[in-house]
Amino acid sequence: MISIEEAYQRVINNTELASEELISVSESLHRRLTRTLEAPIHLPLFDNSAVDGYALGPNVNPAGATFEIAYEVPAGDTQKRTLNPGEVARIFTGAPIPENTASVVMQEFTQNDGNTVSFAENTPFKEGNHIRRKGKEVEMGKELFDRGWHINPATIGFLSSLGIDQVPCYTEPQITILSTGNELVEPGKEVKHGEIYESNCRMLIGALNQLGIRRIEAQKLGDDLEQTLKTLKAALNQSDYVIISGGISVGKYDFVKTANEQLGVESLFYKVRQKPGKPLFFGKKESCLVFALPGNPAAALTCFYRYLKPSLEKHGGSKNFDPSFLKLPLQQDFFKKGDRAVMLKASIQNGSVSLLDGQSSAMLYSFAEANALVQLPTEEKQYHTGDEVLVIPL
Ligand code: AMP
Ligand code: MG
Repeated sequence: MISIEEAYQRVINNTELASEELISVSESLHRRLTRTLEAPIHLPLFDNSAVDGYALGPNVNPAGATFEIAYEVPAGDTQKRTLNPGEVARIFTGAPIPENTASVVMQEFTQNDGNTVSFAENTPFKEGNHIRRKGKEVEMGKELFDRGWHINPATIGFLSSLGIDQVPCYTEPQITILSTGNELVEPGKEVKHGEIYESNCRMLIGALNQLGIRRIEAQKLGDDLEQTLKTLKAALNQSDYVIISGGISVGKYDFVKTANEQLGVESLFYKVRQKPGKPLFFGKKESCLVFALPGNPAAALTCFYRYLKPSLEKHGGSKNFDPSFLKLPLQQDFFKKGDRAVMLKASIQNGSVSLLDGQSSAMLYSFAEANALVQLPTEEKQYHTGDEVLVIPL
């Protein structure tokens, strides 16, 4: 049996970067850029007003004075306009600044009388006031972002404001989830004695969606070698990742290992010195990675966070895919039994970490409350309140 660290390294070493695809900016949330972009235009594109108010031409001293309004410039005005010495124009936020404008005064200091405007005695005047200058935020040609940049909502807005419509991103992987077990029934349907509701499929889809992955096919399988072979074969052909839930242990009805062997999936490891998740299988067929997760729901999700998530992040172009470990003091005493490393559902609160009740690998209630996993090494040991432990925030 290999250690968590060795298993993790094998996963990462066998994870390749995804290829590049050009996609619409509006569909790029959570994707990562394959390269640096260049600003195609200045931002702002032209000098424009930061406020609703009045643009002052050259040689205008506004304090206490009244002027005729030469014209109005609303946002979206496409005429090229000029202010002559002594002229004043009404202007609105975002509207293009007329040529020769010395400054803009906020409406709050003025009184509009139809054709004329009067400025208050205390009207502040400063050259260039309230003018957002062309290229102030970004000049045309500036290099933007690094390879691997994570596209968040602000990035989508920013790229759109530059008029960019398509971005080169790492391709989203095609994922197939196969959930095995004769006992599994879709939620919403009736369960007979001995049956249980299927939970792993939806849970894993949720975990994938959280990473921005939506190209997912999910299928339920009985505990049947022929069916497993047939479905897995198709999945290997059309997926970048196949995630299998259940059937990977040593029971008489566990066919996943055999099916992988028979289909020529190279085993990169089977069984990890960890709890939960001992019977984890990781393999590869051509460019398709196979993760066979234990069926116990909390074990499946723990393995997802510890191995699959970093792999998917690396594949998707992230440079910081390694879990970000923290060292935090424990909020309680805990006796670590056995000779496997453990990953415990935990909650970080106020700079320390508490281990939650319900650590069984079958239990998800506590996982729903957890915001971290505490990883303890293989040795049996009595931990005390305040002892620092390794924490993986989720
Ligand atoms: P297995 O790994 O197939 O031996 O399953 C281990 C335990 O997890 C059994 O109690 C199964 O009933 C349960 N289990 C397996 N798959 C699922 C699933 N998709 N949803 C909920 N429980 C499951
Ligand atoms: Mg099973």
